Amino acid sequence: MTAVLINGKEIAAKKRIEIAEKVKDLKKKGVTPGLAVILVGNNDASRTYVRNKEKTCQELGMNSLLIELDEDVAEDKLLDKILELNNDPAIHGILVQLPLPNHIKESKVIETISPLKDVDGFHPINIGRMMTGQDAFLPCTPYGIMVLLEETGINIEGKHVVVVGRSNIVGKPVGQLFLNQNATVTYCHSRTKDLKLHTKQADIVVAAVGIANFITADHIKEGAVVIDVGINRNEAGKLCGDVKFDEVSEKAGYITPVPKGVGPMTITMLMYNTLKSASQSLDR
Ligand code: NDP
Repeated sequence: MTAVLINGKEIAAKKRIEIAEKVKDLKKKGVTPGLAVILVGNNDASRTYVRNKEKTCQELGMNSLLIELDEDVAEDKLLDKILELNNDPAIHGILVQLPLPNHIKESKVIETISPLKDVDGFHPINIGRMMTGQDAFLPCTPYGIMVLLEETGINIEGKHVVVVGRSNIVGKPVGQLFLNQNATVTYCHSRTKDLKLHTKQADIVVAAVGIANFITADHIKEGAVVIDVGINRNEAGKLCGDVKFDEVSEKAGYITPVPKGVGPMTITMLMYNTLKSASQSLDR
């Protein structure tokens, strides 16, 4: 392997130590950051994510509150729960684990969360603030990617970044964060013609597609930085990213692995946002 490995696990661990220190300071001022997580239904993957979030809260000295609702819960009941948490001074962050059952409108749920407690950074007010360069809760995975690059000392200004994927939670916001840092950004998606033409020109490629081993060495310019957001299972059931790691790591300059790349940063930035919200509550 010729590429430098961007070790998300190590960088996340370093950031978590910093967060835990700040949590201690805040507790001395009488505030313990509290994160409420709402889980609707019985999706196994969602349950694992939620458990990890609770565990990380405990490790960092924060409070966590898990609210479990049945798969067939009425939308109104979920919204009422969110309104109750919006008014609870012990709760600084509210997260509704996605995906939600089909009878619940995701946008309505996200817009019911107070923008002041929207630690996932999905509320249109936070997205608008991010787009206009104002202080905001940044969405955790995109934010985590920016921290990975910063910690690795990779300069972004003037770089050509190609983002493959345009979801509201990863692709679109990560491109915006790169733009905010003066990169030139190209978005690619399922209707893009000749994907390789674009990715081969990139100084930085972000793969957020959700297809195992989709990005191969042919997609990449020699020495490029390759950020793999994907969490997939290959035919053998093994966890893998969107990037064909074996061959791309021989050509790229820097690469994130899966696991231990972007993944650990997502929860870390969720904790960071919850801490930030708790700190801001002191000023209200
Ligand atoms: P979505 O399914 O919402 O979006 C996938 C994107 O990939 C879409 O924009 C889609 O285009 C695009 N796409 C699909 N097929 C192609 C193709 N053939 N060529 C080019 N683009 C294509 O996924 P998410 O953004 O939510 O997640 C992406 C991956 O990242 C998943 O594996 C997910 O599990 C993982 N993930 C990891 C996180 C982490 O913490 N590490 C956090 C969140 C997600 P179109 O819009 O045209 O349909």
